[in-house]
Amino acid sequence: LIELDRAHLIHPVASWRGHEKAGVRMLTSAKGATVTDANGKTLIDGFAGLWCVNAGYGQETVIEAATRQLRELPYATGYFGLGSEPPIRLAARLADLAPGDLKHVYFTLGGSDAVDSTVRFARYYWTARGLPQKDQFISLEQGYHGSSTVGAGLTALPVFHAGFGLPMDWQHKIPSHYTYRNPVGSDPAAIIAASVAQLRAKVQEIGGAERVAAFYAEPIQGSGGVLVPPAGWMKAMRDVCTELDILFIADEVITGFGRTGPLFACAEDGIVPDMMTCAKGLTSGYVPMGAVFLSDRLYQVIADHAGAAAVGHGFTYSAHPVSAAVGLAVLDLYEGGLLENGRKMGARLQAGLAGLADHPLVGDVRGRGMLAAVELVTDKALKTPLPAAALPSQRIFDRAWENGLVIRAFGNGVLGYAPPLCCTEAEIDGIVERTRLTLDQTLE
Ligand code: PMP
Repeated sequence: LIELDRAHLIHPVASWRGHEKAGVRMLTSAKGATVTDANGKTLIDGFAGLWCVNAGYGQETVIEAATRQLRELPYATGYFGLGSEPPIRLAARLADLAPGDLKHVYFTLGGSDAVDSTVRFARYYWTARGLPQKDQFISLEQGYHGSSTVGAGLTALPVFHAGFGLPMDWQHKIPSHYTYRNPVGSDPAAIIAASVAQLRAKVQEIGGAERVAAFYAEPIQGSGGVLVPPAGWMKAMRDVCTELDILFIADEVITGFGRTGPLFACAEDGIVPDMMTCAKGLTSGYVPMGAVFLSDRLYQVIADHAGAAAVGHGFTYSAHPVSAAVGLAVLDLYEGGLLENGRKMGARLQAGLAGLADHPLVGDVRGRGMLAAVELVTDKALKTPLPAAALPSQRIFDRAWENGLVIRAFGNGVLGYAPPLCCTEAEIDGIVERTRLTLDQTLE
């Protein structure tokens, strides 16, 4: 299989040619918060797949719901007006649970096409309001918004741009709030003030608010290294957008569905975005699905403008009945105790990882709920980043694996954590202990 993988299966981010030396690590089964590899080794999945298996593996009610739906009706398309029960029920339940007036749901296949859909809806909305010149988009450095051409352009990680002719000329960035290495220091008020000023300056630079369609932010920047903004940052940015009449779009693809504690992180930030994107925990990795939530105002403007005419946006697998059936079953689990367990285990995880701050390699520990990062440095006072050559993240990943832990080792010396919400206390403690052991071995 490893040879066939090398020869035929492309996984570009891991490396175009696959893991050339060792080959891919084959997983064969999973249960709860653990995965088992082809050698029979069982590990704690500290990253829930790719921050997505929030409900944990092997949940029988989810498997049953998917199986039932596969038998009854595997497919129905809204493309020309057909409906099926699961996506309607899921949309209605989500509309009830979403912040504020985010009452309208468009289902996608994942996060990237959810982000793409927000760009299309934003453009359509401004055109409907007679302002088609509002066609510029702003996002944050170190942000991640997907791997489609549009999403990768809004993303600000260099590897997603190089060789792809990105970003496009209507996609602009302002600096991240990154508290640990912010040029204005770590004072929350100063960081918020700087971001507000940077957003206003960027809007001016690209032609004023009459040219800007939307601003994107993740409630916590995930792929950029789990960067948590100071409390009040989201609200301050939302307020600027409201004042300037720029759409505020919250990308909750990672933070949604209990990852930070509540069902949606925006609720904790006390804001209602104009649109919100979700994926990952929505179906917990069992099947693909994403969603865009639209506010009443946005929905009405688009609906009034379109009238009975078509709005040319739709995917073959939008509102897939099997994905929606899984979404409903997963939502039952979240509401039936998983969110609460996630909140308890999240507090334990944050406290446990904070206990690693005394380790000589640990420069920063940050996170919220079941989303966390440990940033490694060679000099704590100077915050010197680990030289990639001296300590390749692959080596840390490999050592953690040997110690029975799957973590994400980002290239910049940041270790990422996003365990399933079903973790037990022993599993959370295992994540912390195995991390300490891995760091100790790294020092040897
Ligand atoms: N937005 C954010 C914030 C994400 O983290 C991701 C995926 N990591 C995406 C969008 C893209 O989602 P997908 O990979 O499901 O297309």
